[in-house]
Amino acid sequence: MLKRTVFIVIKINKKALLALSIFILALLIIGGWKEKSLQTVFGYSLSKKVVIDPGHGGIDGGTGEYFGFLEKNINLNVALKLKKYLTDEKFDVIMTREKDISLEEKSPIKASRYLRDLDARKRIINNGDISVSIHVDANPDSIKTRGVKIYYYPNSIEGKKLAQSICNSINNIVYKRFLNTNRIKAVIAPEDFYVLRETQISCVLIEIGFITNPEDRKLLKSEKYKAKMAKAICDGIIQYLKE
Ligand SMILES: [Zn+2]
Repeated sequence: MLKRTVFIVIKINKKALLALSIFILALLIIGGWKEKSLQTVFGYSLSKKVVIDPGHGGIDGGTGEYFGFLEKNINLNVALKLKKYLTDEKFDVIMTREKDISLEEKSPIKASRYLRDLDARKRIINNGDISVSIHVDANPDSIKTRGVKIYYYPNSIEGKKLAQSICNSINNIVYKRFLNTNRIKAVIAPEDFYVLRETQISCVLIEIGFITNPEDRKLLKSEKYKAKMAKAICDGIIQYLKE
């Protein structure tokens, strides 16, 4: 009799265990499917598609060549790092390019190569909710000019908000922690750039440093700096979505 009771208890426990396992499994599966909507619980929606637009590419090296150092390659390097940070945060990421190519062949319009390249970028950007174009600046007339600038379209309230959020993040993560100085600061500015004007989503264009300034150039060669910059842009986007 005693043996029988023990047997029943074990049997019930096994059944209960099985039921519990199925229940937990179901929760995990449903949890996975609902992941996107659950993320809004944490204060921001990750269902937003983020477009990363590394400026130039292929035949277009970007701002002139300085010491064998090309803007297009720096832009792509930071863009790929940013993509990694954003996908780690479960964002959907769209890239205008992931290789050293220009985009004019993706445009159906009849115009100059330069305009077709920009038109192709615009079309890709408009498939997202937020867009970040990454560029490197140059000022051959004044090699002392340095620093980061985040541009938004003059009439865009959302663009300005996104620019400010990324700017704050760069000042906190890159300038305070990495450079350990407040002497230079990232700033935001309105500008009538094609990718800001012709697109319909929250857009910014970031100039992540001056290739013509020796100190900035050293930073633009540093993988650590580029990683910090990408991390700061990622955090800035998240902060923007939380607001
Ligand atoms: Zn550029």
